[in-house]
Amino acid sequence: MHDNKFPGKDITPDDIKNKFPLCAKKNKDDYSIFEVAGVEFGGNTIPVMAGPNMVESKELILDVASNVKKIGAHFLRGGAFKPLSFPYRSQKFNETREKGIEWLGIAKNEFKIPIITEIMEERYLDLISGVADILQIGSRNMQNYPLLTACAKSGKPIMLKRHYGSSLRDWLGAAEYILYEGNKKLILCERGVSIPHTHRSTSRFSLDLQVVPAAKEITHLPIVVDPSHATFWRPWVNPMSLAAVASGADGIMLEVHPDPENSAVDPLQPINYDHFDKLIKKMDTIANSIYSRRILN
Ligand code: PEP
Ligand code: MN
Repeated sequence: MHDNKFPGKDITPDDIKNKFPLCAKKNKDDYSIFEVAGVEFGGNTIPVMAGPNMVESKELILDVASNVKKIGAHFLRGGAFKPLSFPYRSQKFNETREKGIEWLGIAKNEFKIPIITEIMEERYLDLISGVADILQIGSRNMQNYPLLTACAKSGKPIMLKRHYGSSLRDWLGAAEYILYEGNKKLILCERGVSIPHTHRSTSRFSLDLQVVPAAKEITHLPIVVDPSHATFWRPWVNPMSLAAVASGADGIMLEVHPDPENSAVDPLQPINYDHFDKLIKKMDTIANSIYSRRILN
């Protein structure tokens, strides 16, 4: 019997046995290790996914691809199909959606960098899968079970972002839907949760780093941390990225833009190339000194 103010929000030993047969670790050293496009997850490398919030134009994405690859990113990120909080901007960027996927494909071929991009609707699965090495399921769709199932069935590697209001229990429940289809290349991503205090009037979320060790106690799945979406504020991206690596994260997602103040979406959070270069070196030092893991080769 629980005496919990929020019943059902924590994970019980019975949950681990009954509700998460596929996510749960079989023993304390059970961690999934797998490759995506030649990059190992869950092993000695901590992959970094970097790029703009939105694939704004072909010129932008080619410039970012070339620079983040040179600096050491393992994946290029960028939303072509984006869940935007207000419909007005969404209309403005309607034409860039399919085009965005095409431009990501050009960047991938030209700079030999694998791609992670978001999928919001099953009807675009074939289009997006043609270019993406990892399908990103965004926070808002974490519990869109038909979408999870369709993406899982495609066999493509998937990164499942945590909904900002969800417990670890519900996040792993969603992950279970993907594993249930036999798709084992699944990565979790913590991207900030809604709490009463976000520490700054424009902030929206708070990075839940405690979930990294908590998740690793229960599941073998690798877990990526996205400090950009969580902090929503550039000056906090450095400390929280370093803390994410120190917490044991298996990967880092960062928004990188050549001219962050003029990013079409969320201009408060991206970092520029120089900032990214300095940060990735520091993250590599921390990863290596604490865990003997590497970010840069
Ligand atoms: C994103 O990564 O571009 C994004 C929309 O993230 P989230 O789903 O975490 O808000
Ligand atoms: Mn974003």
